[in-house]
Amino acid sequence: MTVRTRFAPSPTGFIHLGNLRSALYPWAFARKMQGDFILRIEDTDQERSSQEAVDVIIEGMKWLGLDIDEGPIYQMQRMDRYREVIAQMLQDGLAYYCYMSEEELNALREQQMANKEKPRYNGFWRPEPGKDLPAPPSDVKPVIRFKNPIGGSVVWDDAVKGRIEISNDELDDLVIARPDGTPTYNFCVVVDDLDMKITHVIRGDDHVNNTPRQINILKALGGQSPIYAHLPTVLNDQGEKMSKRNGAMSVRDYEREGYMPEAVLNYLARLGWSHGDAEVFTKEQFVEWFNLDHLGKSPAQHNPEKLLWLNHHY
Ligand code: GLU
Repeated sequence: MTVRTRFAPSPTGFIHLGNLRSALYPWAFARKMQGDFILRIEDTDQERSSQEAVDVIIEGMKWLGLDIDEGPIYQMQRMDRYREVIAQMLQDGLAYYCYMSEEELNALREQQMANKEKPRYNGFWRPEPGKDLPAPPSDVKPVIRFKNPIGGSVVWDDAVKGRIEISNDELDDLVIARPDGTPTYNFCVVVDDLDMKITHVIRGDDHVNNTPRQINILKALGGQSPIYAHLPTVLNDQGEKMSKRNGAMSVRDYEREGYMPEAVLNYLARLGWSHGDAEVFTKEQFVEWFNLDHLGKSPAQHNPEKLLWLNHHY
């Protein structure tokens, strides 16, 4: 089996070093395993996505020497494919039209919260054998929902976090297409990971809650679950989420300020992965040593002084 990994950034706004670390690990793993590394641009949030952010990502990857085997593949150019899969799912009874209006859904949520229940869709429009559904209201544009399995649980052995088990009772029927027919984020990711034959999903742990939903859809579509490795976040030196507002530098600025790409790669490699004592190593050594088993479990903290120190070594 050929290992196939991907980096799937959303080109929304500011690209900092922590973002590039999410490219470095899947790249290193693909290279180590003589597999393929794919760049997928998740640009379906058209309002927040920008060409400039795409350029910063691609330039930053080139600068670090993270070569890609396929892509960039833009999700916006795959809309027909997503629509095709949704149509097939409706036909196969894996998905259904849901006519619950925003107002009804909000009222339901409020009622559930008042009863101290977790707010969730109640499956009203979910077709089941022997269930009578009312005629669809003509004034509501329906969403399309995935028929999440009832009962049982989703289990995966996360390469970083260990075994995770989520009961299907926790997951309601995910909206896969909005009222205007556009596919939703989690759905596009599943179709892409399947079509691109991704074997290892190495990504930030802010996506860990999406994973059980994605696995259920993936399986419904006849796919096999890839191996997941959810990386802890990179925090800034104050222990906060990295952002432009709290002073993070854009990836582009490191190049402009004369940092050596080898130093930055060396530095990023260490942000959440450890190997022996070697402080300074080459890209080739990193690839040789890289291993999913050595990924750290706790958030990595950005240390600009360490980076400066490394930079002086090159
Ligand atoms: N587009 C997502 C992000 O930038 C990553 C999704 C994924 O890797 O599955 O956070």
